[in-house]
Amino acid sequence: MKKIIITLDGYSSCGKSTLARQLARELNYIFVDSGAMYRAITLYFLRNHVDLGNDAEVKQALTEINLDFEYNDASGASDILLNDENVEAMIRDMLVSEHVSEVAANRYVRDFGVAQQQKLGQKKGIVMDGRDIGTTVFPHAELKIFVTADPAVRVERRFKEMYERNPNITIEEVTHNLEMRDYMDSNREFSPLRKAEDAIVLDNSNLTKEEQLATALQWAKEKIGQ
Ligand code: C5P
Repeated sequence: MKKIIITLDGYSSCGKSTLARQLARELNYIFVDSGAMYRAITLYFLRNHVDLGNDAEVKQALTEINLDFEYNDASGASDILLNDENVEAMIRDMLVSEHVSEVAANRYVRDFGVAQQQKLGQKKGIVMDGRDIGTTVFPHAELKIFVTADPAVRVERRFKEMYERNPNITIEEVTHNLEMRDYMDSNREFSPLRKAEDAIVLDNSNLTKEEQLATALQWAKEKIGQ
């Protein structure tokens, strides 16, 4: 059967990863959360005090980073490994969220991330979510979805997710972080967050997870020719 590339882009916390994971499962495709890759790089930079203003330091640090994915039976999804260490939980912390957009805007970090993502998609049969997947990573992807949701709905979803791990988190912190990341991701110089011209918009503000999956799956099957 024909294998295709499916890209999901959009603002922070609009449910891209959840949908991408479900789609991949239904189609028996690989799922890649590209945001996890930028988060893991950010964790490495924070731990090693890499100065983003120093190109040589950034380039050197990137040569020391090895990213991999490992299937997690309990969650039914892949965890990210940073130099063989499972950092899946750590990269979701507020500290990483506060710095990731700045790190992801760096041109060397972008080249590094994009090259690795393109390699993962060489054999197709992949669903990848992020910000520039349909525009920069896979501009020729067969199906591109741009996911959107009401800002209030996004804050609420994100807050619930973070509160489970950190009951001290406030709505204000979550709102500020989402606004800041959306602004930085949309206004950076290299591969800013944009809807690809040929992407289909999926607004899931009023959709259940089942409804949005059914919609996306229908689009995918039309492209695959089933
Ligand atoms: O998807 P997630 O919210 O985990 O992504 C974290 C951050 O990683 C984003 O806010 C963005 O700065 C960066 N990112 C990116 N390009 C991607 C995916 C994520 O710049 N393709």
